[in-house]
Amino acid sequence: MYKSKAYAAPSRTAPLAISTVPRREPTERDVQLEILFCGICHSDLHAVRDEWNEFMPTVYPIVPGHEIVGRVSDVGSAVTKFKPGDLVGVGCMVDADLICNECKAEYEQFCPNRILTYNSPDEHLGGVTYGGYAESIVVDEHFVLRVPSNLDLPGVAPLLCAGITTYSPIRHWGVTKGKKVGVVGLGGLGHMGVKISHALGAHVAVFTTSPDKKEDALRLGADEVIMSRNTAEMEKHTGTFDFILDTVSAQHNINSYLALLARDGNVTLVGAPPQPLNVAAFSLIGGRHSLSGSSIGSIRETQEMLDFCGEHNITADVEVIPIQKINEAYDRLAKSDVKYRFSIDMASLRDE
Ligand code: NAP
Ligand code: ZN
Repeated sequence: MYKSKAYAAPSRTAPLAISTVPRREPTERDVQLEILFCGICHSDLHAVRDEWNEFMPTVYPIVPGHEIVGRVSDVGSAVTKFKPGDLVGVGCMVDADLICNECKAEYEQFCPNRILTYNSPDEHLGGVTYGGYAESIVVDEHFVLRVPSNLDLPGVAPLLCAGITTYSPIRHWGVTKGKKVGVVGLGGLGHMGVKISHALGAHVAVFTTSPDKKEDALRLGADEVIMSRNTAEMEKHTGTFDFILDTVSAQHNINSYLALLARDGNVTLVGAPPQPLNVAAFSLIGGRHSLSGSSIGSIRETQEMLDFCGEHNITADVEVIPIQKINEAYDRLAKSDVKYRFSIDMASLRDE
C-alpha cells in the first residue's frame, strides 16, 4: 500500500480539499498509472452532494473522478496489454466479477458485482474506492483502455464517461445517416452526443434551455437548435424524431420530448436526476413510443468509442483547470455554465 495525493470532499457540504488516499501496490494483473487529466462529470457533483442517497449513498470522504487519462508507470507480471510509458484511460468501472452472464456477454456495466471507480466497496484495501482527482491509480488491466495517439489529452479524458455514455445508446438505437436525432441538454454528455451523432451522419437537433449556446451547438455539429422552453418551437417538430438522447441532470418534462417522436421512436435517458420523472401514458401509447435508459458502456464498446474518436478526430471541448479551482468549477457546473467539460490538469496537484 502507498499513499497518493488527492482532492476529497469530507462531507456533503464541505468544499473539496487536498488529502491523501491509499492505493494498493500493483498485483500481477494491475496497471498503475500516473494521472495526467481528469474530467469533471455532473455525476461527481451528484455524488459529492449525496443527491443520489436513495440509490447509492455517498461514503465520506469521497474522491470523485472517472474520466481519467494517464501514463502507465508500472505493470504487474501477468499484464499483457500495457507497458510503462503507454497513454491509457480509465472510466467509471475498475472491476467486475468477469464470470456472470452479463460479463460473459461483455456487458460489464451491468454486472451485479461491478465496482465503480469511486464510492464502491474496495475489495483490496477495504473501505471504498477513490477516483481520479488524484496523482495515481491502480486498476486491473481489463478495465484500462488504449488512447489513440493523435488526440489531445485534456479533451480525451471526458471520453471515458461522457463519450461512452452517449456513444453506447447512440449505436444501440441505430443512429446513422437519414435519421433525425435529438440531444437534450448541451453539457458534457450532450456536446459529445452531438459530435458523435454528427460523425455518424445523422441530422442532429439540440434542445437547450440556454439561448447563448446556440452558436456553439451549430459549431459542434448540430443541424438545428431548438429552445426547449419555447412551446411553439417545440411543437413544430411533433412526430418527427427517430431518437432523442436526454442528458438533463435535473427535473424536467419528459412528455414534451416523447411527443416529438415519430412512430416507434425512442427517448433514452442517460441524465440521472435524483427525483422521479412523470411519464404520461398517452406520451407512449400514440406512436408506439418507447422510453429507456442506458448506463455508460462496456469495456469493448469503450475501446471501440476511443478508436472511433481517434479516426474522426473527436475530443471533448474542455476548459482546463488546476485542481485548486475545483470548488469554483462545481459551482459553475451546477449552473450549466461550462463550455463543455472541465478537465483537471493533474500537474497542479503534484505541485501542491
Ligand atoms: P452537465 O454538463 O451539467 O449537462 C447537463 C445539461 O442539462 C446542462 O448543460 C443543461 O443544458 C441541461 N440542464 C441542466 N439543468 C436543467 C434543467 N433544470 N432543465 C432543463 N435542462 C437542464 O452534466 P453532464 O456531466 O453532461 O451529466 C448529465 C447527467 O447525466 C447527470 O445527471 C449525470 O449524473 C448523468 N450521467 C449519467 C451517466 C449514465 O451512465 N447514464 C453517465 C454520466 C453522467 P442546456 O444549458 O443546454 O439546457
Ligand atoms: Zn460520468
